Amino acid sequence: MHFTESDIAALLTAFPGFRRRPTSQCKVAVLAGRLRFEASAPGKPTIADEYRIRVEFSLDPTIALPKVFEDDKRIPAVAENHVNPSGDLCLGSPLKVMQVLGPKPTLIDFVEKCVVPFLYAASWRERGLPGLPFDELAHGAQGLVHDYERLFSVVGASKVATTLQLLGKRKRVANKRPCPCSCGRRLARCTMHVRLAPFRELAPRPFYVEQAKNVLDWIRNTAPPRPSVPTVDLQPLDKRERSRANTKGSPPLISRLK
Ligand SMILES: [Zn+2]
Repeated sequence: MHFTESDIAALLTAFPGFRRRPTSQCKVAVLAGRLRFEASAPGKPTIADEYRIRVEFSLDPTIALPKVFEDDKRIPAVAENHVNPSGDLCLGSPLKVMQVLGPKPTLIDFVEKCVVPFLYAASWRERGLPGLPFDELAHGAQGLVHDYERLFSVVGASKVATTLQLLGKRKRVANKRPCPCSCGRRLARCTMHVRLAPFRELAPRPFYVEQAKNVLDWIRNTAPPRPSVPTVDLQPLDKRERSRANTKGSPPLISRLK
């Protein structure tokens, strides 16, 4: 993932409530401000709300996702609320977030497709609305494994780890290995290699190497179940709403999820 100065400029234009904050760390950008949104998940009520958030990310190409913090501490920092121990919000499994953003991610998409849905779910819980707005995953590695089982159509943590390891290898090398779908063939001989191809476009090999390591560590430690993360199984935002909101010249921006 690589966000540049022009991504930052575009975000500050789209979200006038945000400002760039000075930071002592070089090659790190910090954007903070009020994020107002009006959103609804499919078939769910519309919620309008506002949070003060901060987004931190590297200006160098990196396999890490931007970190997002909720600065008013309105969302209690407990795992049930999908807040990591370091205080940053858990927006979903890294690969799911990358899938939602596509191969050319923008900061605006990141805020609209990952941060706004998270805040929508937080407001949902805060208001005590019944049920959950989206499917939820277990937090941490267990949720990661379940999400990756779904994304790769494999069953079990060790198959997930093998699939991630294959994605961490060059295609030519991976194709000679046994397929993780249990078909008994080499990967190249199974349609699995076709299903895996888009993931190679989505993230670089080191990303998958790291994800595989996380899953293998979890298998080794057989971590106790931990609380949960919202899946980012969301619909794209309605861009027309955004441009309409912008032409009113009234910050902050109104985003809308359909
Ligand atoms: Zn197979």
